[in-house]
Amino acid sequence: MSTTGYNSQNGAGGQPYANGPSQNPLLVPPSGLGFNTGTQSLYSNQMPAKAPLSTGPGPYNPGPYQMTPPVSSYQDPGQAALARPPMGPVQPAPFRPAGPVAPQSQNSTPPPMSSTASYAPQPTWPYGVPPVSVSSPPVATMGNHVTPAPGSVPNRHSPSPYGAGHTPPLHHGASLPPGPVSLPASSTSSSYTYQGVGQVPMPGDASQVPNSFDHLEMGTKGMVGPPPPQTGLAGRPTGQSYPSLPPGYANMVPSASPLQSPKPPYSPAHQPYQQPQANPAQLSPSLAALSLQSQSPEVLRAVNLLQERNILPPGPVTPPTPCLPQDLQKLNCNPEVFRSTLANIPQTQSLLNKAKLPLGLLLHPFKDLSQLPVVTSSTIVRCRSCRTYINPFVSFLDQRRWKCNLCYRVNDVPEEFMYNPVSRSYGEPHKRPEVQNPTIEFIAPSEYMLRPPQPAVYLFVLDVSHNAVETGYLDVVCQSLLDNLSSLPGDTRTKIGFITFDSTIHFYNLQEGLSQPQMLIVSDIDDIFIPTPDSLLVNLNDCKELVQDLLKGLPQMFKKTMETQSALGPALQAAFKLLSPTGGRASVFQTQLPTLGVGALKSREDPNQRASLKDIQHLSPATDFYKKLALDCSGQQVAVDLFLLSGQYCDLASLGCISRYSAGSVHYYPSYHHQHNLAEVERFQKDLKRYLTRKIGFEAVMRIRCTKGLSIHTFHGNFFVRSTDLLSLPNVNPDAGFAVQMSIEENLMDLQAVSFQAALLYTSSKGERRIRVHTMCLPVVNSMADIFAGADVQAITGLLASMAVDRSVSASLSDARDALTNAAVDSLSAYRSSVLTVQQPGLLAPSCLRLFPLYILALLKQKAFRTGTSTRLDDRVFAMFQLKYQPLSYLMLMIHPALYRVDDLTDEGALNLTERTIPQPKVLQLSVEKLNREGAFLMDAGSAMFLWIGRNCSLSFLSQVLGVPSYAAVPQSMNQLPELDTAESVRTRAFVGWLREQRPFFPVLHIVREESQLKVAFMQNMVEDRTESALSYYEYLLHLQQQTSK
Ligand SMILES: [Zn+2]
Repeated sequence: MSTTGYNSQNGAGGQPYANGPSQNPLLVPPSGLGFNTGTQSLYSNQMPAKAPLSTGPGPYNPGPYQMTPPVSSYQDPGQAALARPPMGPVQPAPFRPAGPVAPQSQNSTPPPMSSTASYAPQPTWPYGVPPVSVSSPPVATMGNHVTPAPGSVPNRHSPSPYGAGHTPPLHHGASLPPGPVSLPASSTSSSYTYQGVGQVPMPGDASQVPNSFDHLEMGTKGMVGPPPPQTGLAGRPTGQSYPSLPPGYANMVPSASPLQSPKPPYSPAHQPYQQPQANPAQLSPSLAALSLQSQSPEVLRAVNLLQERNILPPGPVTPPTPCLPQDLQKLNCNPEVFRSTLANIPQTQSLLNKAKLPLGLLLHPFKDLSQLPVVTSSTIVRCRSCRTYINPFVSFLDQRRWKCNLCYRVNDVPEEFMYNPVSRSYGEPHKRPEVQNPTIEFIAPSEYMLRPPQPAVYLFVLDVSHNAVETGYLDVVCQSLLDNLSSLPGDTRTKIGFITFDSTIHFYNLQEGLSQPQMLIVSDIDDIFIPTPDSLLVNLNDCKELVQDLLKGLPQMFKKTMETQSALGPALQAAFKLLSPTGGRASVFQTQLPTLGVGALKSREDPNQRASLKDIQHLSPATDFYKKLALDCSGQQVAVDLFLLSGQYCDLASLGCISRYSAGSVHYYPSYHHQHNLAEVERFQKDLKRYLTRKIGFEAVMRIRCTKGLSIHTFHGNFFVRSTDLLSLPNVNPDAGFAVQMSIEENLMDLQAVSFQAALLYTSSKGERRIRVHTMCLPVVNSMADIFAGADVQAITGLLASMAVDRSVSASLSDARDALTNAAVDSLSAYRSSVLTVQQPGLLAPSCLRLFPLYILALLKQKAFRTGTSTRLDDRVFAMFQLKYQPLSYLMLMIHPALYRVDDLTDEGALNLTERTIPQPKVLQLSVEKLNREGAFLMDAGSAMFLWIGRNCSLSFLSQVLGVPSYAAVPQSMNQLPELDTAESVRTRAFVGWLREQRPFFPVLHIVREESQLKVAFMQNMVEDRTESALSYYEYLLHLQQQTSK
């Protein structure tokens, strides 16, 4: 098909596709900016790019999968969204056939927006509005998602969707808590003893409760377990005279409070609960003092962005504090672990729609924590209705009853819970650690297992083709493993194994008693079988010497190889088969495009068009082989981590699926070479050390619950969604972040606060089943001003970044870029029309959102979303992966690096840590304006740091920090700060070291002279400056102003 044919379809005004105008508004306005990217058709590049479907006769033949992906077991985020479609075209498309997909998917979607050039119909996100909320099955309208929709529970007795010869996945994650997904039988397997109906305590005055019972009843619809008896009586507002009090707190208000009900609102048949005199404060985290006016007006101060240049705070940007009373807020979850884009939750969806801000949660659930309370108890106290774990935001009606803060069910306090193991006292259930800590971990009893906890199992899958050997990576991996073998998380049961591959697959028999490792070669890659299955994954303790022998020998074994082919797909199949019986982690190292067997790929990138194409093709996988295999892995509790070391195109968009859907991680070293790029070697070494020794959780599932009335509808991160809202995580690691979008499905008018709880059930490397629970409480507000006052600009940016990645894949890159800009335009317009009382000229933002346009512009300049600049496709796809799964704190440094002047560091205002003084220089704007030739500037971009040295930098800095006599003597390639015995050197190294400590992976320091090649990478992060293909910050503000005043 000719290009012109497409052009005529896509020509100005004639855009036939669903994604609005083909013109990027950013490209339109100020003329003569030098942008643009030519008039290439959006799809001119797609026809020849038909990538082959895998044709092998293996079990992963795409045929049967395409026909009927079994929804129950293969529900990916996209498909989950189909069941409850929130955003139409924003969703990543479900399984796709090989070859170009964009036109097809776009044509099949009726254009939701007109394609006129006016602003309004341009792409935006209908934040949190699942279009089918009303007609969807009950579960879709429930806030807590306890039960999957009927029929979506994987049925272990149903015919295998895998075809003959395949074991169905265990699905054991799916039927386990954190929520009783499939088995109402939890009533028999848990240690709860359900009591008779009459025994459920009821508020004595419940009959006067406002008529919200209907809603409550609905809240139990579809819930698992016996229907809560007398639900109505367990209904929400218990302080009947004060319906505006959130029921969760109604009875925790001290009697002195003016809001306190004059009478205890529970049945007189029960012993009135004595407020413990000694500790009223502890028992009464109350909302009585809730006062929205307490919110500092500063956050809402109107800032005219066109005039105020210095909008960066001098230090880190801090998240807003929810306007909760102090005693509640101090019990709230650490925002680094759990935070919301809006710290104050709007009362209704229509209010949220009006504010035009995205509502969602960002999580870093398995973050390394210095202090984590761990509870061992045979009774884990959870709500009988919605299975929420007891937490600091429940209320105790009396010593024996607590009311759930998510569904308002009144539950009994089990006898065991009356004893407080911390204080060793009896009768103070509210002082138990579960009720005092927003983050807590339980050692789970046997009800939380469907099989004995698996051992830690590590399988290393290594590319040993000629290309791989050339990079020299194998030596580093083997050495790093040798160094860290005894630090791999695990216990006496830990297993380890190795597969290497080129055009064939090589296994290693490491069975105890052998005098040396035995290599077994399988050359029939079309039908992979496992030779000697019992001796390939071996106990690390028993076989350590053989393992060490192998690691010492491996790099030599392939030194002279001439084999250039790569049978990655068959190697992954072998890994899957080997790990299936136990579950575990496969660490895959790949250095080229796979060329043989199933999953073979062809290059889809045309380097000549990297910069000129306005819309980027091939962001979605060329084959669904990797995704399907990932889902098989997920079913068997196998996660695949991918290390890609290649300067050539490897089709990360396809390969990455193996990690994305199996909850693995992707690591990328695009210019790795053992001789030519020592900085990258250092980074790889440090990353491997972290990777091998960091905490790991196996066979994990995570569920996020929220107060009834709120609904979670789209998940971002690496996982697979099972049964509606249960995230299947065969592995969980401390460096993984997640995000979810939310909508408000019911009016929250009766509530002053809502709660969110994330529960992560996993098997520790020591074989313990554990549950980590995080609970966050946020106030409900009903004014636009309060919503804006709680806007968390970083969380909003992080969530939008994930949404934009999805949209780039499901629609187009330009569509995603438009939607990002529109997000800024819409929210600033909403602020102007609904919050500002005095209209002023300029581009106005509330102080708390003053960084929003800057962050959006920074996103548009990211490798993931930029246009007009030559960007390798794999670099772009990797950046998209990072945006989706990095925890927010790391993500923000990638989006908007921090720039500091460091040639004049002082101890003034320094941070004093134990025996260390860390200078705290001011954060500077990312503009060359801020650089000067007399100085030295450190840019912290998350995974890399740049130390830029001005031509006239002071000799004292050069000699005392860099150890060189002059500017000219700074080496072209320098990645270390020498350890000099000068105050300046100590200060600078302390500062760099301190920055590095704050992230898990090692950022390489590049020391950059003005004429160095790396200057380009450094300058690309100067997001406020104009480039040949992108607006400056000021120009972008003018563009936004133009749009908001429409
Ligand atoms: Zn509940």
